[in-house]
Order: sequence, then structure tokens, then C-alpha cells
Amino acid sequence: MNTYSEQLNKLDHQLNALGFCESLIFWDAATLAPENSVDGRASTLVSLSELYYNLLINENTKELLKALEENKNDLDEVGLAKYKFYKEMYDKIACVPVDEYSAFKGLQSKASKAWEEAKEADDFAIFEPYLQKVINFQRKYVTYRNLGGHPYNTLLEDFERGLTVDVADKFFEGLREVIVPLVKEIQTKGKVIDSPFAGVTFPSKGQKEFSDQILDKLGFNKDSGIIAESVHPFTMNITRDDVRITTAYHEDYALSSIYSTIHECGHGLYEQNISKDLGFSKIATGTTMGIHESQSRIYENNIGRSEAFWTTYFDLLKNIFPEQLKDASAETCYLASNDVKASLIRIEADELTYSLHIMVRYEIEKGIFEGKYEAKDLPQVWNDLYTEYLGVTPPSDATGVLQDVHWSEGLFGYFPSYALGSAYACQFEAAMNKVFDFNQAILSDDLSQINEWLKENIHKYGSTKTPEEIILAATGEDFDPAYFTNYLKDKYSKIYDL
Ligand code: ZN
Repeated sequence: MNTYSEQLNKLDHQLNALGFCESLIFWDAATLAPENSVDGRASTLVSLSELYYNLLINENTKELLKALEENKNDLDEVGLAKYKFYKEMYDKIACVPVDEYSAFKGLQSKASKAWEEAKEADDFAIFEPYLQKVINFQRKYVTYRNLGGHPYNTLLEDFERGLTVDVADKFFEGLREVIVPLVKEIQTKGKVIDSPFAGVTFPSKGQKEFSDQILDKLGFNKDSGIIAESVHPFTMNITRDDVRITTAYHEDYALSSIYSTIHECGHGLYEQNISKDLGFSKIATGTTMGIHESQSRIYENNIGRSEAFWTTYFDLLKNIFPEQLKDASAETCYLASNDVKASLIRIEADELTYSLHIMVRYEIEKGIFEGKYEAKDLPQVWNDLYTEYLGVTPPSDATGVLQDVHWSEGLFGYFPSYALGSAYACQFEAAMNKVFDFNQAILSDDLSQINEWLKENIHKYGSTKTPEEIILAATGEDFDPAYFTNYLKDKYSKIYDL
């Protein structure tokens, strides 16, 4: 039996090493690589993906997985998790012919580049042919994988194990019932929030200083992580001891970098806290996108956009920007960071309207895989749905359908995990409140109690548990979106005197 486990471990190490290289290439592409590096990178990624494919998909692995299946009962917990992980990955990749698999890797690089150009030029036509190819590949993948049921289910499952169109439809329906009337009530009430950040310039140097200090406060380990700048903030987890996050500084919009830094820090903490027992393995990473987002959002929203956060950390910011914030207070910063506005750009959306942005993308993706929409239809469908859900119509494709990078990379099925993450986060906060006072922990300027709970209940497990298992074990209940909708109702009723 040992030999099967050892064989799987060896394969795991080799695939992990290739993943390590790929991650470094992506990090480099997003931070420092020059303009003309795109073709060389695309061809390198194609070769790496062929190596990856051939190493994983072959008769030996097939036999090995079969042997492990037959001897499952002899595996320890980590061994079993690793087996399940690879079985799933094998089935997912083996269904795609190798030439199509690696061609898609090349297409991803080129489509991302075309998307960037299209967004810059505000010209959807530049991106459209690439997007259509990406859609065609994903449709084919759905037929290859053939999980049955709604075709979009296959893609949802890839990002959030267990998620289906039926479940997501119900989830979003429930959110819509609460969020849409709340937004309307806020608009009718007409309370204006004066932001101390509006129209004030915050030099990048000071913003960097704040990012740096707040990372220490939140517990980000800088011996095992760094922060850099990129156009779109992201987290690249290379190993648990090498977690790289980025943020973007806008001098006329300081709140943007503050919340990007805190959000990515949440992702980073998850990765840094994964148990060393999992070794340097493909399973030593966050379990699903939804759970990962719950960790970024619990820091960004439940902690970062709370009154307690600003009460505790306003002085830190004011010390760096005494002139800019001379008339501001913890209270005005708190209100400004929760100002509700139906807007065009997802990543700038407030916590309340955010899920409406996700619903637009969810409806479009579902439609694409039902065969209702092709790439050429998307600008119009996008604008129609924004008008319907948020009451705003994008004046350009750059501020509309071209705003997100995801589709250029073929990431269909990814967006719902953002909204799920917000909902999971609220259930985790409620569970913590049964053990200690969440708010008081933030006010104490020592987040170790919160960090420790998240580490023990979520982070340390890496990919060895499903979202369902994590939520049940951590909170004692199945997933219940009511924690999220109640949180939103409470929070915004207080802020807007509803
Ligand atoms: Zn995130």
C-alpha cells in the first residue's frame, strides 16, 4: 500500500513543481514583464501545460488511481484527500484531448492580451473573436466532461464543489428579494453620505505606508509573503511560505487600495495558515473559490468595513495623512466605506449592491451555456441586465462588458463564488460570535482571536475538506444564506436610518 501512496506523492511533487513554475510566470506577467513578453510566455505556457498533461494523464496514473481506489481504507486522512483530489483532477483533464488542452492554454494568454487592448481602446470588436473561441472551448469541455444536468453545472462544479444551477438560482433569488428593496429604500430615503475621501488627493507613498502597517495589524506574515502593485489586485499563492499579494494605488481614490490590500490579505492569510502536515502538495491550498472568497471578504467587509475597524485604525491612517483627514473622523470614514450607490464597476461596488453585479454575470454565463448568447450578443445583454438590476446603463463597453478579466481566461462559473463567499463569511462571523465577541476582538487592536478561529476551522485544512464539510464543522449548521441577508438588513438599516 505504501508504494501506491509513495507513487502518488511523487506525482504530486512533480505536478506541484510545474504549478510552481506556472505561478511564477503569471506573477511576473502581472507585475514586471515587458509588453512584448506575451508571445514567448504563451508558447512557454503551452509547453508547460503539455508536460503537466502528459505527466498526469497516462495509463500509469490511471492504474495508480484504480489501485488506490481499491485500497482506500488503508489510506490516512491526508492520503485519502490527495487521492480524491487527483481522481477529480484526472477525470476533469483526461476528458480533453491533449492538443486541445494545450491549445487552450495558449488561447488564454492571447485572449487576455486582446481583452486588455479592447478595454484600453473601448472596442469590444478586438476581443470578440477570442472570446468566441474561449466560449467554444468551454462548451466543448462541458460535453467532454458530461456531468449531466444543466450544462453550466459542470463549470460551477469546477469552482465550487456541489454548486448547481438549481442551488445558485435559489441563492440569488433569495438575495435579490432582500437587496433590491433595500437599495430602493436607501435611494428613496435620500440620505447623503459625505466622504472625507472624495475630491482629496492621497499620495501613493502614504497609501503604501498604510497598506504596509495594516498588513501587520491583520497578521500577514511578511517573512512568508510580499505585497506588490498590479493593475488588478490579486493573490498568487506559490507555497504557504511564499504568498504574494498585490494592490493598486489610485491617488484620487484612497479607499480602493485600502480595501484591495485588506481583501488580498484575507486570501493570503488563508494560504499562509495551511497546515505544514500537507507538505508542498497540490492539496496544500484553499479548497474552493467560494471558501477562498469568504476569507478575503471576512477581512474586507466583516472586519474592514465595520465601525469597530475604523474606531481602531482611523488614527493609523490620520497619522499618515493628517492634512487630508483633518476634518474626518472614524465615523465619517466608516460611513464613506459603506456608501451605497448603484454603479457600473463591480470591483468598486459597495457591499450591498455587489451581489447584483454578480447576478448580471451569472445570468449571462447561464445563457451562454444554454446556447442563448454568443460573444457578439454580450455587450447588449450586459447593458440590458445592468439597466434592469442596478438601474444604470454603461455608456461604454470599457465600463460595461469589458471590465472583468475572467472571461478572457475562460473562467466561466467563477463569479458566483464571490457572492457565495460574502454569504459564507457572515455565517462564519455568527459562529465566532458564539465563542467570543467578534466586534470586541477588532476593537482590541489584536486580531489573533479571529485569525486563530479561522486557521483552526478553515485555513489549516487546505483542500482536504469540501465547502459543505467546512461550513458544517465550523458553524454546526449547513450553509444558510439568511446570515448574509440579515447582516445586510441590520447593517444598512442602521447606516441609512431605515
Ligand atoms: Zn478575491
